[in-house]
Amino acid sequence: ARQLVWFRTDLRTHDNSALAEAARQGPVIAVITLTRKQWKAHGHGDNKLSFWYRGFSALADDLDQLNIPLKVLSPDQFSACPEAVLELAQSLDCQQLHFNNDYGINERNRDDETVRLFKQDGRTVQRYDDGVIIPPGDLLTGNDEYYKVFTPFYKAWLKALDQQSLDIHEAPSRQKSLKSIDSDKVPAPDTPDAVDNSLWPAGTEEAEDRLERFLGSRARHYKDRRDFPFDQATSTLSPYLALGMISPRQCLTAAIHKNGGHAGDGDNNLTSWISELAWRDFYQHVLVGFPKVSRHEPFKSETRNIKWRQSKKDFKAWCEGNTGYPLVDAAMKQLVQTGWMHNRLRMVTAMFLTKHLLIDWHWGEAFFLEHLVDGELGANNGGWQWSASTGTDASPYFRIFNPTTQSKRFDPAGRFIIHYLPALSNLSEKHRHEPTASQRRELHYPETIVDHRAARERALETFKSLK
Ligand code: FAD
Repeated sequence: ARQLVWFRTDLRTHDNSALAEAARQGPVIAVITLTRKQWKAHGHGDNKLSFWYRGFSALADDLDQLNIPLKVLSPDQFSACPEAVLELAQSLDCQQLHFNNDYGINERNRDDETVRLFKQDGRTVQRYDDGVIIPPGDLLTGNDEYYKVFTPFYKAWLKALDQQSLDIHEAPSRQKSLKSIDSDKVPAPDTPDAVDNSLWPAGTEEAEDRLERFLGSRARHYKDRRDFPFDQATSTLSPYLALGMISPRQCLTAAIHKNGGHAGDGDNNLTSWISELAWRDFYQHVLVGFPKVSRHEPFKSETRNIKWRQSKKDFKAWCEGNTGYPLVDAAMKQLVQTGWMHNRLRMVTAMFLTKHLLIDWHWGEAFFLEHLVDGELGANNGGWQWSASTGTDASPYFRIFNPTTQSKRFDPAGRFIIHYLPALSNLSEKHRHEPTASQRRELHYPETIVDHRAARERALETFKSLK
């Protein structure tokens, strides 16, 4: 019997649980739902949308190779998806629907409703946990609760890795043509291209290439160099993982293979990278275990009482990279110009906004989502609440990064800084971190908008008063 596979954030034919299982059961028809309005309401900006559409096109080509017809629906909102997908199943005479789970609360509601409608209509739905290594719910504390702290989660995660969680599903073989069913064309993204598309070619081939290049070279120095933004020592796989152009399992098994069969011990560069894949899982588990996170509530509820400063002017200076702290400013320019920001700098800029400027992390979270190609609720919200000290396993509120110290430590020669702030190129290495007042005037580079010490004291007072 015909099987319908609904692709959402799993845009690949290789190692895709839903597709692999569907193909075992019968000829496959694929469907995608272009819920533009919903994605916009979730805060995704043009960079991500463009990447998503280009990802759908790449998937269409891969499906075409397998003779799998692709149907394109445009229900605009999640709420209209269940009915639209059911109608398609009826018209194509598909008894079974398969999909890989998404973990945000709106996504889960959409999927639960789909299951309900299909059941009511006498059809079945098969769901898979494919976007994470270990499914949410499989790792719980001794009290049967979801983990709130990463380290014990990570220990349990390592223990839970077994053959089943590491098995790769090959892409199905080319099926016999379903002659009566034509593929729909994936529309081109109608978003203006904010960043150069060639920075982020979409699709599995590119993703697998990036994995191979990373493990072949940079992975060897990952632990030592991952915090130095100028070194480009990380994999840059995040956009590809966020939309499932590659599976986390593929990344993990390749890293384990490189590490002589080990996940938790062996080369500490590789284990350190593997632990980032665990962080990724952790934040997806948090989404399921603590739905308030999807509702934009702080994880630590007492932090709801923080009186954030409502300074639109300071927020604008931060967004535009005009804070007068070169590393912060260069990082914000990296985000806006490339749609991606290095992890160390995400922490530095997020902490600067929430601690030095004492501006609500929701503002920063939204600005990141608007620009990131890899923008994803779990990791973005997790990272913001970590930096703002409002989250699970968050940075303690009194540990406030000094942006100038971070700059000297992680960009010692100021090479990252001058890449994005070329006006500072002629300064000595020392002054790239901290231009003098006259250098600032001469180079039209802004004065610092807050004094580090005073801002730090203000943040400490604010957080202390919550106790
Ligand atoms: P690598 O160092 O090569 O790591 C490999 C993979 O592990 C990444 O591709 C990513 O999927 C995962 N990973 C790495 N670090 C983390 C982490 N801290 N949390 C969860 N997963 C991680 N990541 C996103 O994918 N989307 C976001 O929207 C996002 N927003 C963030 C916001 C803030 C404020 C912070 C502090 C972090 C955020 N991160 C986000 C996590 C992290 O910064 C990026 O995943 C990482 O920089 C991506 O670069 P990479 O692919 O080269 O990572």
